[in-house]
Amino acid sequence: MAKVYYDSDVNTAILEDKTIAIIGYGSQGHAHAKNLRDSGFNVIVGLREGKSFDAAKEDGFDVKSVAEAAKEADVIMILTPDEHQKAIYEAHIADNLEAGNALVFAHGFNIHYGQIVPPADVDVFLVAPKGPGHLVRRTYEEGAGVPSLVGVYQDATGHAKELGMAYAVGNGGGRAGILETTFKEETETDLFGEQAVLCGGVSELIKTGFEVLTEAGYQPESAYFEVLHEMKLIVDLIYEGGLENMRYSISDTAEWGDYMSGPRIITADTKQAMRDVLTDIQTGEFARNWILENQAGRPKFNAIKRNELEHPITEVGKELRGLMPFIGESLVD
Ligand code: NDP
Ligand code: MG
Ligand code: MG
Repeated sequence: MAKVYYDSDVNTAILEDKTIAIIGYGSQGHAHAKNLRDSGFNVIVGLREGKSFDAAKEDGFDVKSVAEAAKEADVIMILTPDEHQKAIYEAHIADNLEAGNALVFAHGFNIHYGQIVPPADVDVFLVAPKGPGHLVRRTYEEGAGVPSLVGVYQDATGHAKELGMAYAVGNGGGRAGILETTFKEETETDLFGEQAVLCGGVSELIKTGFEVLTEAGYQPESAYFEVLHEMKLIVDLIYEGGLENMRYSISDTAEWGDYMSGPRIITADTKQAMRDVLTDIQTGEFARNWILENQAGRPKFNAIKRNELEHPITEVGKELRGLMPFIGESLVD
């Protein structure tokens, strides 16, 4: 089994006398900034003026322009959206890097696909929590953490891995486990996971199940409960104890149906489609399309997003969740 690192395996002293600049204060940014500060590290935040700038100030951070923060810091973590990182790096960060600084990412996209090319005299590594930013913060506050990946792309100081491990521990990752990886592996598996299974796969599975039930005349409310609401309850059982725990908890009828019908839904064709998705990620085809889509002002992204919001499951979901006060406040603001 691959070595998994925990708090007790990591000496964080190397990060203690350094200044860490968190660039961006969104989903990941606010979580890293707060977690590292609570772990005792020196954190400053780099932002343009606006909503996030005010929020980070409100939260008590020393907030500077991106250029000033990059200049002042030894460790610069870029947590703005992937599609803006190249422009932000070129305009505000590149000229403020000094030999021996560390340039850090939470996802390998821009390095792996050659969008950002750092100078040879800085460390480049990634610390990628395997979970949404709001949970990176919430689990930290609860005394837990989100499993994290650390990967070194460029080791100018000879300490890049040690620094990455220390950062991951400061962010709470060492409570759940830190796994070593490469930029290639992190980038390709992360994109595959979100496209084929976690986001793309699950969304289409839910929507299609909802459509089949409602088109057959069943009530939208009952379809929603069955294929969306219950998803979390089932996934919680899988998260806590694997597929076997979920299958232990469900009825034998459900377990038999799982074995008989699951493979009729996810077929050999589906597996081939997953391989094709992976190929597009590995060849850079997906990255190229996403980069061009952004350069064009996102016409396709915006059109699909609007259509998706008009799906009948959106409306019925809003109504039903409104009637379930025990469902926590949404992370989406
Ligand atoms: P967000 O979309 O939440 O980041 C938005 C932040 O970036 C805001 O603070 C925004 O400030 C700032 N920002 C945007 N454009 C600029 C700019 N031009 N100059 C300065 N600041 C800017 O990003 P995520 O947290 O989702 O993603 C950050 C990184 O983490 C990405 O590399 C992503 O792949 C990775 N990651 C994300 C995960 C997640 O849970 N979302 C999970 C694991 C990795 P403003 O208010 O001014 O717009
Ligand atoms: Mg991702
Ligand atoms: Mg049932």
